[in-house]
Amino acid sequence: MKIIKNIADIRNLIKEFRAKNFTIGLVPTMGALHIGHESLIERAKEECDAVIVSLFVNPTQFCPGEDFDKYPRQLEADSDVCSRLGVDVIFAPTAEEMYPSGMESLTEVIPPSSFQDKLCGKSRKGHFNGVALVVLKLFNIVTPDKAYFGQKDAQQLAIIKKMVQDLDVNTEVIGCPIIRDADGLACSSRNKYLNIASREKALSLNKALKKVKELYDKGEDSIIEKAKEIIHHEAEVEYFKAVALKSFEYKEKIEKGTIIVIAVKIDGVRLIDNMVV
Ligand code: AMP
Repeated sequence: MKIIKNIADIRNLIKEFRAKNFTIGLVPTMGALHIGHESLIERAKEECDAVIVSLFVNPTQFCPGEDFDKYPRQLEADSDVCSRLGVDVIFAPTAEEMYPSGMESLTEVIPPSSFQDKLCGKSRKGHFNGVALVVLKLFNIVTPDKAYFGQKDAQQLAIIKKMVQDLDVNTEVIGCPIIRDADGLACSSRNKYLNIASREKALSLNKALKKVKELYDKGEDSIIEKAKEIIHHEAEVEYFKAVALKSFEYKEKIEKGTIIVIAVKIDGVRLIDNMVV
């Protein structure tokens, strides 16, 4: 497995892969890999000849006051995971490599407001511009045939699919199911910030989502209001909403294919989760 830090080197390697007619799969991550990331890598390994995992804590997607500085960075442990899974290349650029002229006066990639003026985009102003920018840059650098993203970040996935469609990017975006720990908590690099008591409170997210499904199956109404009662009383609910899976428009009525999205802050840690009905 190669660990590559600069763009010129990865471009040369991509040329070699192309000369061998390899299909290329990219798994973009911010590192601190867990079994959620592993599931994306495994899927890429099944479907592509060469698998590249990017590890980059992207500064342009963090808002002021967020955890950019304390976000876990652990190249060595992540390399072990990637090597165990048979990854061909880790691409781990520095911020200077990705943004050589700094973070000011950059060309912007702005997803449509209907996708990003709500939910995570509302509370994290500019977050999805940063995501779209870095993902487009990674796509231009790696030119993957397929790129793998988690359904865990459902709004991000919808925005990337829209960007790829609108800008004719020649990459197939593949959404992969949410991976959870045995207790039901959706895996996240930020779960490291939770202590035992906070984690216990966090379990109420998945329980509330399951309650939605249960009430939907029973044909009840005011489902979100009823399911909200399950969320731990110390969790600050940022949103708990029903949206259309593809367009991310709010939905009054929950129906098959509606996605229920939730974001809360528990003891200062922001967590998101979702479930497709
Ligand atoms: P991150 O490192 O948090 O930027 O995540 C990198 C990729 O892994 C994104 O496409 C996420 O949606 C995906 N991901 C993160 N957590 C999970 C999970 N629990 N299950 C599936 N995919 C995940």
